[in-house]
Amino acid sequence: MGLSRSMRREDAQARWRIGENVPWSVSWTGESAFDLAPSRDFPGLIDLVQEQKPGVGAPVFGFVHVTRQRLGMVGHLCHVCGRPTPARDRYLFPVESGGFVTLADGEVRYGGNVPPVHLDCARKARRLCPHLGGSRAAPVAFPGDEGRLVQRTDVVPGMEALARTLPAGLEVVFSCYRLFGAHFTRHVERLRREHQETAGSTDVLRQAP
Ligand SMILES: [Zn+2]
Repeated sequence: MGLSRSMRREDAQARWRIGENVPWSVSWTGESAFDLAPSRDFPGLIDLVQEQKPGVGAPVFGFVHVTRQRLGMVGHLCHVCGRPTPARDRYLFPVESGGFVTLADGEVRYGGNVPPVHLDCARKARRLCPHLGGSRAAPVAFPGDEGRLVQRTDVVPGMEALARTLPAGLEVVFSCYRLFGAHFTRHVERLRREHQETAGSTDVLRQAP
């Protein structure tokens, strides 16, 4: 009994290979402990820090690891394999991820909350990320103007229970996003419009007898 259970565990471990069939940035069930630490990237604020034991337990698709998300966003580490992306091989999926942020002066900018990917890894991301699976939008080259990092201190969905255990009134960085410039924002708006038009025409075709 004990033997078969440990064999099953080995099967599960052998099944998952980070960067191949599980993205580097997703959480694993073995990474359930959290801590607080002074933020290195957002001076004066406190970071939520998640223990790092990638490969322990099973991957939790759909739950991005808090610390790896931040490391990936700050250091341009690849969402799929975790290695640094050089500027010439750094891509985003801005049609499917991130959103538009309205600034205090009313200007709208694109904000991306998913770390970039290598072009080779972008192909794997299509298979690994359910929200990309049905989309035909191509990966987009990361802009020359890399924008600026903005912290999010509101509670990330799914972390409400953890948030209740944190000291009251303490501003904690749960995640961050990259606020891009006006030029890239217009590019993303255009791509999303085109993508919607394509998706719309497909729907019309599907409805035709
Ligand atoms: Zn990669």
